[in-house]
Amino acid sequence: MLQVLVEGRNKHKTFRAGLITNGLEITRMLNLGDWIVQLDYVRLGYTEYFDRPGHDSAKSLFWEALEILGQKKMQDERAKVRIGVKLLLTRDNATSLEERLEGILRLKARRTQRYVVDHVKIKSIRGDNEPTPDLIRAMEHKLTLLKSKLGERANDLQIDIKSAKVPSTYSCWINPIMSVIGVSGDVYLCCNFYECPDDLKIGSLGIKGEDHFREFWGKARHRDVMDRVAPASVCNSRWGCHCRLVHYQELVEPLVPYSDRDTPVIGTFFVGHEKML
Ligand code: SF4
Repeated sequence: MLQVLVEGRNKHKTFRAGLITNGLEITRMLNLGDWIVQLDYVRLGYTEYFDRPGHDSAKSLFWEALEILGQKKMQDERAKVRIGVKLLLTRDNATSLEERLEGILRLKARRTQRYVVDHVKIKSIRGDNEPTPDLIRAMEHKLTLLKSKLGERANDLQIDIKSAKVPSTYSCWINPIMSVIGVSGDVYLCCNFYECPDDLKIGSLGIKGEDHFREFWGKARHRDVMDRVAPASVCNSRWGCHCRLVHYQELVEPLVPYSDRDTPVIGTFFVGHEKML
């Protein structure tokens, strides 16, 4: 699959392609790395349980995967991949997170002694182990200090640990700027479909489904799904990621006609989005 993606991207040059992964397979299937370094970006997630007792072997696979990617990137002159890592702040990993961040940013490939990681993103975990508001404030302060201590190495350090919880009355009209296609060809409204995939499915591509987005995009089912999104299980999903679109929506609301919260979502959101087809 990676090969198809890289070759398609090289041929058409109309899209950027990247991979978000825990990276563990990279150490088992070495040729994966050869394709990954030809992508535009790769981001490895440093899973919070790596630092719990009994997970040392998974943790060392993570470091090994980073090392492999760094090495392969240096060896392949066509490789322009941006190597990133994502860290999650939890209620109980604040101290080790700082240490981990420093280790990641200072990691150098053994042979070339060049830095491996280009970008680090830090977010807060969701669910029961979500950090308290006080911890978030304290960590924002500490991480800002650490960022200035790390100087240039931290130029591309993104600290975004504020809680992204949205109120139960939240109306998302921005989700049609993206879609998620599952491996079976099912298309979902947005990336946080894990807890209720049937409710979030807007159509299908492939053998058993419709053939083109236009057959379901903006049609009754799509609008209906969008209008019925339950913020508690979708936007605040325990299994999904923090939805950055909430933040984008907040930023653009004052600037676009959809900003009027009194206007029902269903009557407004496809006004601009239909041009995307
Ligand atoms: S998670 Fe919620 S806010 Fe984010 S795109 Fe989906 S519906 Fe919109």
